[in-house]
Formats: sequence, structure tokens, C-alpha cells
Amino acid sequence: MAKYVYSFGGKTADGNGKMKELLGGKGANLAEMCLIGLPVPAGFTISTEVCTYFYDNKKTYPAELQKQIETAVAKVEKIIGTKFGDTKKMPLLVAVRSGARDSMPGMMDTILNLGLNDQTVLALVAATNNERFAWDCYRRFIQMYGDVVLGVQKAPDEDHEPFEVVIEGLKTERYQNAEMEDTKLNVADLKELVARFKKLVKSRTGKVFPENPWDQLKGAVGAVFGSWMNDRAKVYRRKYGIPDEWGTAVNVQAMVFGNTGESSGSGVAFTRDPATGEKVFYGEFLMNAQGEDVVAGVRTPDPVAKLNGIMPHAYKELEGVRKTLESHFKDMQDFEFTIQDGKLFMLQTRNGKRTGVAAVRIACEMVKEKLIDWKTGVTRVPADQLEQVLAPIFDRAAVKSAKVIATGLPAGPGAASGKIYFNADRSVEANAKGEKVLLVRVETSPEDLRGMIAAEGILTARGGVSSHAALVARQMGKVCVCGAAALQIDYHKKTLTVGDKTYKEGDFLSIDGTAGTVYAGELKTAPSEIIQGLLHGEKSAQESSTYKNFVQLMDWCKKSTRMTVRTNADNPEQTANAVSFGASGIGLCRTEHMFFEGDRIDAMREMILAETLEDRQKALAKLLPYQREDFLGMFKELKGLPATIRFLDPPLHEFLPNDKESQAALAKKLGVPVEKIASRVHSLHEFNPMLGHRGCRLGISYPEISAMQARAVFEAAAECQKAGVKAKPEIMIPLVGFKKELDLQVAVVHEVAAQVQKEKKVKLSYLVGTMIEVPRGALTADEIAETAEFFSFGTNDLTQTTLGMSRDDSGSFLPHYAESEIVKKNPFATIDQKGAGELMRIAIEKGRSTRENIKLGICGEHGGDPDSVKFCDKLGLDYVSCSPFRVPIARLAAAQAAIAAAK
Ligand code: ADP
Ligand code: MG
Ligand code: MG
Repeated sequence: MAKYVYSFGGKTADGNGKMKELLGGKGANLAEMCLIGLPVPAGFTISTEVCTYFYDNKKTYPAELQKQIETAVAKVEKIIGTKFGDTKKMPLLVAVRSGARDSMPGMMDTILNLGLNDQTVLALVAATNNERFAWDCYRRFIQMYGDVVLGVQKAPDEDHEPFEVVIEGLKTERYQNAEMEDTKLNVADLKELVARFKKLVKSRTGKVFPENPWDQLKGAVGAVFGSWMNDRAKVYRRKYGIPDEWGTAVNVQAMVFGNTGESSGSGVAFTRDPATGEKVFYGEFLMNAQGEDVVAGVRTPDPVAKLNGIMPHAYKELEGVRKTLESHFKDMQDFEFTIQDGKLFMLQTRNGKRTGVAAVRIACEMVKEKLIDWKTGVTRVPADQLEQVLAPIFDRAAVKSAKVIATGLPAGPGAASGKIYFNADRSVEANAKGEKVLLVRVETSPEDLRGMIAAEGILTARGGVSSHAALVARQMGKVCVCGAAALQIDYHKKTLTVGDKTYKEGDFLSIDGTAGTVYAGELKTAPSEIIQGLLHGEKSAQESSTYKNFVQLMDWCKKSTRMTVRTNADNPEQTANAVSFGASGIGLCRTEHMFFEGDRIDAMREMILAETLEDRQKALAKLLPYQREDFLGMFKELKGLPATIRFLDPPLHEFLPNDKESQAALAKKLGVPVEKIASRVHSLHEFNPMLGHRGCRLGISYPEISAMQARAVFEAAAECQKAGVKAKPEIMIPLVGFKKELDLQVAVVHEVAAQVQKEKKVKLSYLVGTMIEVPRGALTADEIAETAEFFSFGTNDLTQTTLGMSRDDSGSFLPHYAESEIVKKNPFATIDQKGAGELMRIAIEKGRSTRENIKLGICGEHGGDPDSVKFCDKLGLDYVSCSPFRVPIARLAAAQAAIAAAK
């Protein structure tokens, strides 16, 4: 018989920590914690296979399931010594918890205190002699069950949860204070809430609240499976690339109670600081509360260290747990606990989400502590997160003169300025219009996710560092300040008031998520310590631990990588930056970028307007010195590293002015009639410039252009070498689909090279190769490799031409493709492995069949995308190339790929 249900409790478990696919992350680790002797309330996990079955079979369950659940409940009853639905003695209450393979914080739904009804609540009262506690559990249960299972939720036009509205109504009615803490509600209040909640459920759903615990359980399990396909879970999965097929598990677990009184509480803690990575016990707890209160950010909790004074015994136990978790899981853990009458229970643990800065620090320090080896350290930093480490901080001078209007908790580090918006939808709209947005909320809930994605930063008035807002912000690398209690937010008026000052929606504020400060207005930002240390050579920045850890990580990358990382650069400054970041050369120099600067564009235009070869050569002669200077500057910065230089690529019309006024100005400058310019612009017009007269097609029509470019390269190389610095140009002919195209261009290059070497009396070493960026080029790569000494995959154009989809025009339909999951990831950001990626594979195979050691690289935008970098490693490329500021990211991804491949 198939096994769908896995029990845990009493130091044994059917599953273990390795079974995340089947049991979900939460279920697997609950089992693992039991096995290592931590105090976990007994329970069982319904496997992800049931979720898959559920969706494959019109939301029904396997026939054996019910029986297995009953057996598992009986096991829990035996361990705990209570019975589910008992109306005489202490009843067994359970939590029904979701648990995907990867944690999806707050995205799925949890139901606590299940098993309560009008009879069992009385049994609970009698057994605990704590009437207030029992009714508090009951009202919580109806609230959660009503929300999650019965769908009593806020409508799009409501700003508050309907149950919260009822609670606030009662508080106002009875205490004239809508803001008072829930813990101050007495038994009569709670009984009244239970009655009103049931009424609310009846009026919103037309149904009576279910009394039978087994019906409740069934409903809750169905709701957790159902929540796998709800909107916010889908948005979340799309953002993090989690496939729909994975499914969630359901955990049913005996309740422990943090709300029995002043010797109880619930908390969330991290074994190290997830914002900075510092090795301190970091976390918070709420006295007399159930865990949801902490995560929901409804009340602002106390730091966990304070527990030491209140319940020293439990605190000590907790400190012990912290050590056990790290030495067992060998990674920073994020765990949830409840203390019931002074006794500690563990409810969850997982590898903690952390900021980029924290990830780097934790990896480096754990290696130092010998908890992990250095290669593992390299794999611990998600390559994309390095972007956060390089992100700007507020300019020190700007901060000094800025006005602090409030302080809160530093929940997501970094610096962000933006216009404030109080609602997720309006944030998304504003962001779509190109505005920088700060999302400001009293507290955030999972419904705000879209708004958080659109925002530069998130600011909340309530909630702690483990509130939903903080958790999600850190993971997305968003700047976040939480619990800034001085902020008075009026959703209705769309205003934010601090003291006597009021800010309207659309006003600028700035937040520092590293310090927890909120500033009025828009503040200037400054580069991170790493940038200051690496690129500007600032000594004080180089002393910082952020800088040192980064350098350490990059050293490890160097030791473990197979591929090297080059950069896309068009000028000496970009080249210098990239070299400081550890680039091993230039992978793509787009020569046309050089033609736009200053007077050069005039010479370029003159060349384009020329009618005879002679006139064209005259204009080209003016361009030659500019190009030579540029190349020389780059060769010098490269100090002997190779530079792949691509010849002119874009269609010529891009260089000519389109409007009448600029055409007139140009005519005057060049002393030609304006009609001539207009007519040339007209004749250069193309219906599909992307597929038009561009790339090597230009050099085929006008070989003199290629000759000039070749001369600029070789003269610069000669001069550089005379100055004692080796130059290694690799000339790259773009858009080749036919071997003959390349042959013709290569002949020009060799001829010029021979001339220059003779003239300057130097010996130059150079390569000539091509970009593989049209399907025919890939498919005939064996022929092309007879001439080409290297291939560089131009995956931007290769993706466009493979898909028959213009990147610049894809904005109107690609979002729908993502929504309908036709494409899992944007193919212009991450290589479409089955499309463009397959053409790459074919080209490599064919290229190598002709030229065994042909040099292979990639220079499309994809070269800086970690997933694509890993794919390139698998294909066996020699290098990837990306923009200077992504070089560290690509280096890390490349090292990780090599480490994974060696395993
Ligand atoms: P999420 O995945 O959103 O974190 P959880 O399943 O962890 O959801 O549940 C949310 C909160 O409910 C937890 O933080 C915990 O405090 C509380 N909780 C979960 N299970 C139990 C339990 N068995 N007893 C008491 N509280 C629980
Ligand atoms: Mg949890
Ligand atoms: Mg191209």
C-alpha cells in the first residue's frame, strides 16, 4: 500500500531531513529535529504526492488517505495522552500547516487550535482552569479557519481584514480604544468575539461554522492543498522560479500553547543575524501569544535576549538549541518556537534567508569556524545576491544634513529613496510609470507582495524584524524599515503623519534599512564599501569586514572556477572597473559606441552620407585616430589581457538624425543641402532594422569600414607594445551566417595586419573569429570554424532570431507569456536552453569537429545571469562576458558551477 502519511514525535520519525521533496521543507525538518532529540510536538506529514494527486484528480484524495490519517491521529493521541474531539477531558488540538519544498514565507496558510467547538472549548476550560486562554484559542481558530478555509477575506476595496474590523469594533465599543492589545480582552469579550465571528462567517459565506473536528480537519487539509494554487502563491513561485508541479505537503501537529499566560510565549529566532550576518543570537518573542502574532506583525515583539531576564531556564534551553541546530545543519537556521508554561517546544527550522551582505559574512565566518569547508562556503552565497553587496548606501554628507523623522527596526539593509504609496496596487502603477516607490503600510501581508516587488523599499509602522514585511524584503534584497511606531498612517486620506508633519502619497521619503532610520525627502546615495575599496582604492573601505569578506570569497572563486569571466566594455574606465572586479579580459567591445561621442558622430555621418569610395575613405580617415586612441586606452588598462573587438554592427540609420531640425543643423555643419540628408535617411529606412543591413553585411558592402577598424586596432596594439605592454586583440565579425561572409572580412583584417606590422616593424599576435548569433551560423559552425579562430555566442541576437521575436518589441506580449507559463523565465534574461541553448550546443559540437581547441565564449546579456552562466559551464565554454558590475556575480556563478560539476 502506498504510504502517504509520515508520523513524527517522541524522538522518532518516519521521515528525515533529506526527504524535502516528499515531505516539504517543514515536514522533513520536523522529522529531523525529532531524530536529533529536540522537543517537537508530535504530529504527521501528508506528503506532496497527495497534492499532486489532488490536482491530477479533480481535487480528490487517494482512497487510502483517510485511514492513514486516522491511524496517525491515534499515534499523536497516544504520545500526547489526549483525544481529538474529546468533550470531557483535555481535547487534542492540532495545527494544520502547509509546507512546500522550499520555504515560501507567509505565502501559504496555517490554521491553529483546530478541534475546538462549543463543547470542546468547555473541556479545554475545565482541563486548564484557564477560561481566558480557552476562549482566546477558540476565537483565533474561528478567525483563521474562517479566513483560510471559508474564504472570509478582505475584498479589494477594503483596507482591513474583516475579522480585525470586528475586533476593533468591539474594542471601540467596550473600551473606546481600537488600538488596545488583544491580551487585554477578557473572557466575556472573547466569548462575544466568538459569537460575532460565527455571525460574520454566516453572513459572508451563508454557511454555519463546522462543529465536527474531523470535518474541520478535512476542510483545513483541503484548504492547504488548495492554497498551493492561490494567487499570491503563484506570484511568489513565478518570482522565485518554483515549479507548480512540486506541490505542498500538509503538516498536522499537536498544538502547544504560547498563550496560556505570562509564563508562555512564542518566538522566531535566527542562529545569526540575517541582516548583517553577525554571529549573535537574533530573534524576538511575544509573551502570552501564539506564533501567528509574531509573524503577522500585529504586535511588536521583544528581542529574544530579553527572555533571559524573564524565563532564564527557557532561555538557556533556547541557547542550547541554537548551538545544536548550527552544528547539526551546518548553516544559519531560522527557527520557530513556543514556550508553554516555561517549557520550550520547537515548531520549525530551516536554512535562514539572509541578505547578500549576511550571506557573504556567514559563509566566510563558518569556514573560519571550520563548520564548513571553503568550497561549501562558495556555494552558500546565491550569486544574484552579490548585487546587494555592491548596492549603494546613503551618501555620508547627505545623511548629516538630512532630517530623521522616525526610527524603526533595521529589517532589510541598504539605502532607498522613493515616493511613498500606501497600497500595493498603486505602488505597482507608479512603478510602471517609472517612479521610484516606497511602499508604506501599517503592516504588510502576503497580499502586498506585488507592491513590495515594485518598491525600492518598504516601511511599516508595526511589526518586528521577523514580520512578513521584513522576511520578504530581505529575501528580495529590498531595503526595509519595520515597526516605525511614530508613523501614523491614514489609508483613507492617503497620508502619513509624524508629529505635526503630514506627508501625502507621492511625497519623497528615504529609508536606511541598515540603521532603521526614516528621512524626509530624497537623499543622495554613495557607492558601497566594496566599490569604494576596489574601484576607488579607498583605504578605510578596504579595512571594513564587508570588503575583506568579499575579497576572500572572490579568491575562493578564483581557486575553484573552470571558466573565466570577461567583461563587456567600450572604454578605458569600464575596462579598469571590470579588471578590478577580476575580469580576465574584454569579451565584447562594441566599437559603434565609440562613434557617438562628441565630434565623432559628425565624421561618422559624413562617412554615411558619402557617395563615392574616395569620400567615404576621407571620412573614415577622420574616425581612425579616435578609434585608435580608444583601443590604446583599453589595451593599457588590460595589461596583456585579451580584448574581443567587434566590428561595426548596427544599421547605419541609427547614426543619422531623424527629425527635421537636427537634419537641418547637420546639413549646415557639413555644408550639404538638407534634402540630401533627408533622402539618405529615407533610403536607409528599413522595415526590420534588426534583420536588415547590419553586422558583417555592412563590411561586405563597405570593406573600407572594416579596413579602417582593423587599422585602428593594430596601430593601437603596435603603439601599446612599443610602450612595453602586450596587446591581445581578438577581432570579431558579427552576424555571420555563411562561411564566405567571414572569409571576405578576415581577408581584409589579415591584409591590414600585414601592412601595419610592416609599417611599424612589430610582430603582433591576434585572433580573428566570429559571433554566433543567427541560426544558420550555428548550424554551419563546422564550416565557419575553418576560418574562425574563436566563437562568441551573441545570445541576444541568437535568442531573437531563434524565437523570431524582437527583444525591443517583446514587452507587449512577453508578460502574458510569463503569466501563462509559456516561458518559465524571460528568454532575454536567462538562456532558453531548449531553443537558443540547443543551437549553442550544436555550434560547439560542430565547431570542435573542425577545430578541436576552438576558443568559446558568450557575450550576450545572459553572460551575467547566474543560471545562464551555469548552463555555459555545462556546455564547456571557456569564458562568459558581462557588464563590469556583474563580473563578481558571474565569477561566483562560474565557481559554483565548477564546484557542482566536480561533485
Ligand atoms: P509559515 O509556514 O507561514 O511559517 P507555520 O506552519 O510555521 O506557517 O505556522 C505559523 C505559526 O503558527 C508558527 O510560527 C508557529 O508559531 C505557529 N504554530 C505552528 N504550529 C504550531 C503548533 N503545533 N503549536 C503551536 N503553534 C504553532
Ligand atoms: Mg513557520
Ligand atoms: Mg548581435
